[in-house]
Amino acid sequence: MNHLQDLWKVAQGPWESGVLPSAENLARARASLPATLPETGSSLDSVQRHILDDIAPAFNGGSISANYYGFITGGATPAALFADNVVSAYDQNVQVHLPNHSIVTDVEYNAIGLLLDLFRLDRSSWYNGTFTTGATASNILGLACGREYVLQKAAQRKGIQQQSVGEEGLFEVLSALGLSGVQVLSTLPHSSLVKAAGVLGIGRSNVRSICRADDPLRFDLEQLEKELSRTDKVSIVAISCGEVNTGRFATNGSDLSDVRQLCDKYGAWLHADGAFGIFGRILDDSPDFAAVRNGSDGIELVDSITGDGHKLLNVPYDCGFFFTRHPDVASQVFQNANAAYLTAGSSQGPSIPSPLNIGIENSRRFRALPVYASLLSYGKSGYQEMLGRQIKLARKIYEWLFDHPEYTPLPQASSKAELLDQTFMSVLFRANDAELNQNLSNRINDSSRMFVSGTSWDGNPACRIAISNWRVDVERDFALVIDVLAKSAEKL
Ligand SMILES: *Cc1c(COP(=O)(O)O)cnc(C)c1O
Repeated sequence: MNHLQDLWKVAQGPWESGVLPSAENLARARASLPATLPETGSSLDSVQRHILDDIAPAFNGGSISANYYGFITGGATPAALFADNVVSAYDQNVQVHLPNHSIVTDVEYNAIGLLLDLFRLDRSSWYNGTFTTGATASNILGLACGREYVLQKAAQRKGIQQQSVGEEGLFEVLSALGLSGVQVLSTLPHSSLVKAAGVLGIGRSNVRSICRADDPLRFDLEQLEKELSRTDKVSIVAISCGEVNTGRFATNGSDLSDVRQLCDKYGAWLHADGAFGIFGRILDDSPDFAAVRNGSDGIELVDSITGDGHKLLNVPYDCGFFFTRHPDVASQVFQNANAAYLTAGSSQGPSIPSPLNIGIENSRRFRALPVYASLLSYGKSGYQEMLGRQIKLARKIYEWLFDHPEYTPLPQASSKAELLDQTFMSVLFRANDAELNQNLSNRINDSSRMFVSGTSWDGNPACRIAISNWRVDVERDFALVIDVLAKSAEKL
């Protein structure tokens, strides 16, 4: 029990170590790993001590520190952390809706409804979906549903008997329809969308950016229509609802409805990767957030949405979610070729689909419970306030960079006001000195006081600060960030 109490203190208290483990702690942890499986077991107490004393000191502060700005890691709110421990202790399997056996599917379904409320998505058309291991898995669900749907549409257009990839196979359906493939059209899609296309037999090389020449984030609508009108391929359009380097959006309310109309005209599926960008919809109506809100406006028009739980929702790894306006398509793709014992038996409560028929896994962790707990703990306004702090910190850092002689904020902006207006919770920048810029992320991270991602923008190295942790304290963290950035820009 003492071990658990120690652990609880670490997870809830302020993080005082560096954001990365020391080289000594890494080496010590590595040296402590057994070479082979021991013949006899050790006591529980000694296993616990080994994990806490040898292994844990070599973890990083990715989720626990407020100053880890690499990737988009989020943290774990106290309510979510509590619920996650309950999930482990009770070890429920959320697979089949069996209302007389357990409440877990009801809770999961309820949590989906609460998320829809958070994101202002109308329950009458969106109340379905599932929890996944993250946005990558949700993107696989989205493209899989899209692939099923666009080929069914193509079959209808050609007057060919209903074709289902889930039932008959991709190759068979494409051959029957005389098509050469499925393509995914996007603007600067996240790498996981490309991976999803690889997994699904669409092919990574069939994911294409259809960007405007003057703005790589936005669709070239003329070119998009040209691609959609091809007769040799069917198309899925994927909206980068939050581009991962800049945190900016591919659409605004009005061009999203243009894209929707094009998709309807040509029978394309419209997917939104809103891993973090969907959170733009939780912001209040204040003018400060108008540009960000605008970026996720109209998302209710798409066919499927990817969201991440372990990023801005601040629940523990791993957790993502997926919604679609076409639950019938999801079950055509994911139905578990039915073992009779897996069908739900009772008419109690709402009609809730069995998770195993609408997603990838059969047996699943009860990852809805931390989401449910955190949503109840914060409510709408709590999440608004949390995201508000993250945005405020990002804007203060951008403002400082804009005025600093050694740094350039990206994408390049003509005025500070325009830059700040567009800023969500990411800060992209580079150093003006090319040599310094080559090593900038290492220099910053070597401080171990904060961590940034090294990335590239316009073909040159850049750094990204992604602010996603519930622990953000604007003034405290701003002071730390500018101190590290100022020192990192000093001449060697
Ligand atoms: C992080 C991210 C993903 C991948 O999410 P995982 O949770 O790591 O699977 C996909 N899309 C976008 C836009 C992201 O930011």
